[in-house]
Amino acid sequence: MSGGATGVSMTDLTVTLGGVKLTSLDAGECLYDGGAMFGAVPKIIWEALVPADDQNRIRLSLSPLLIETDGRKILVDVGFGARHTKKDLRIFAFDPDRNVETALRRMGFAPEDIDTVVLTHLHADHAAGATRDGTGGVEPAFPNACYHVNEREWADALEPDARSRAAYRTDDFVPIEEAGQLDLVGDRHEVAPGVTMVRTGGHTAGHTMVLIETPDGTAVYPADLIPGRHHVRVPYVAGVDTFPLEVIEQKEKLLAQAVAGDWIVILDHDVDGNVGRITKDERGRYAFEDLSDA
Ligand SMILES: [Zn+2]
Repeated sequence: MSGGATGVSMTDLTVTLGGVKLTSLDAGECLYDGGAMFGAVPKIIWEALVPADDQNRIRLSLSPLLIETDGRKILVDVGFGARHTKKDLRIFAFDPDRNVETALRRMGFAPEDIDTVVLTHLHADHAAGATRDGTGGVEPAFPNACYHVNEREWADALEPDARSRAAYRTDDFVPIEEAGQLDLVGDRHEVAPGVTMVRTGGHTAGHTMVLIETPDGTAVYPADLIPGRHHVRVPYVAGVDTFPLEVIEQKEKLLAQAVAGDWIVILDHDVDGNVGRITKDERGRYAFEDLSDA
């Protein structure tokens, strides 16, 4: 594992598994309401794990995954990107100049080099970077990529329920379809040999995780099924999850598989390190073991 750092807090973490290079990209971070992240867990408990600011916000990393395999460059999620409103900056306080494109350029790549984009779901903190402001309006940020999105997620994002409406913005994803770069996929879809999108539901009905299966082992990008290391505790379910009991069911299934198979787990929102493995103690409690601490 190597941290390719060009600034004090830039942490692109790379791990190679069975010839597949996996990099957790540092596409910046944002602030997010701590209560919304921890749901029914009382603040007096979660605040001992994650400090909150004076507006009750905690830091979340924006960490897309770059998969390099067989000459392919597959990008899983894209963070907030550079497009933003004043309201975005006031609520989420991200730095628009620190985004997925700047992270790719640190790796020596340009947006044109990406052949495939997988969006685990279409919430703005995962999908807003999918498009950019072009000369003729909003356009796909990755001009040569085919974008893969679960068909249920796409339908729900176009007609969101009242509770989900604020998280979806059509400019983040409709221009992809207009440009003819969209591939809507079903519950299980192989993007490249060994790289599979699997619908989990839970966070949203069409929420998808990505499995990377190689001869030397398996890695998983659970996206918002397990956004941060503390969410490996089974009852720690975010208040923004649409189907919390489904999150618990899917998370328990995934954690058991990750322990049994010694999977590498790459988190999307943990500011303290996104690449690790899962352990289970004698009382059945799961923990995230950060590989960069090893
Ligand atoms: Zn989300």
